[in-house]
Amino acid sequence: MTKELVCIECPVGCTLSVDWQGCAVTRVSGNKCPRGEKYAVEEIQNPMRILTSAVVCEGLSLKMLPVRTDRPIPKARLTDAMQAVRAMRLRRPVRSGETIAANFLNLGVDLIATRDST
Ligand code: SF4
Repeated sequence: MTKELVCIECPVGCTLSVDWQGCAVTRVSGNKCPRGEKYAVEEIQNPMRILTSAVVCEGLSLKMLPVRTDRPIPKARLTDAMQAVRAMRLRRPVRSGETIAANFLNLGVDLIATRDST
């Protein structure tokens, strides 16, 4: 099978052509550097994404606190992760970068605040 992808590793945005059979990538072309090949292989075999969302605040002047995972999580888990964030309530002030949920969903990543709450 062949698939075209746009590499998102840098602003150049190379268009990659990826051939694969089963789970094995057999050829990557169109990349201007090795990062593109690594991205293409990961995107076919185990796509990962940083989750960005917002947690509802209660008892704070801020209504929604923007959050993100500190590292990418499997793309297949994004829906679970969004549901978990939607169910959360933040009831204490936090600082930007502070962990909101350690080892979020047992994925080995932390959910962190991306701004101060008040
Ligand atoms: S292949 Fe390299 S140069 Fe092209 S978008 Fe990806 S990281 Fe940038």
